[in-house]
Amino acid sequence: MLFLKSLSPKRAENPIIPETSPAEETEPATPEKPGEPAMPPPQDSDSAPASTEEKAPLMATPHFAMAEYQCDCTGYCDGWPCAMAPELLEKIEALRCSFGRPVIITSGVRCAARNEEVGGVSWSFHKRGCAADLYCPGVSVGDLAAGAKDCGLNVLPYYSSGYIHVEI
Ligand SMILES: [Zn+2]
Ligand SMILES: [Zn+2]
Repeated sequence: MLFLKSLSPKRAENPIIPETSPAEETEPATPEKPGEPAMPPPQDSDSAPASTEEKAPLMATPHFAMAEYQCDCTGYCDGWPCAMAPELLEKIEALRCSFGRPVIITSGVRCAARNEEVGGVSWSFHKRGCAADLYCPGVSVGDLAAGAKDCGLNVLPYYSSGYIHVEI
């Protein structure tokens, strides 16, 4: 009994030590490699929201997203008290193309509350989706107004504010 007890631990210690040390070296190395590939999943999650983003927002015309024309009030309406008049959208698109420069829409359709808020007249065409305020960086109000008239738009230039009101 004494011999067996003293021998067995010694035999066990010797073989165990060499076996564990190489095992420890390989084991940490292996988990690290899978750990690195674990990084791509976050990248996938990044690309997932990207695909979730509206890659193709609803376009009013080739150069304008419909969202650029929606009511910019802070909650009086859902953004679309009425639809934008297609004829207006087409003429603004033509205006944009005639200058070959980005045109910024500062106001499209307005709900009644928003129209009052910005001091619009009660009969404003903005409330019917038949008017928009816009400017074109690098183009003077006068030139932009003249171009808008050429596109068949009725124009009200606001020289001091730097934009024009167009309507159909
Ligand atoms: Zn509104
Ligand atoms: Zn206006």
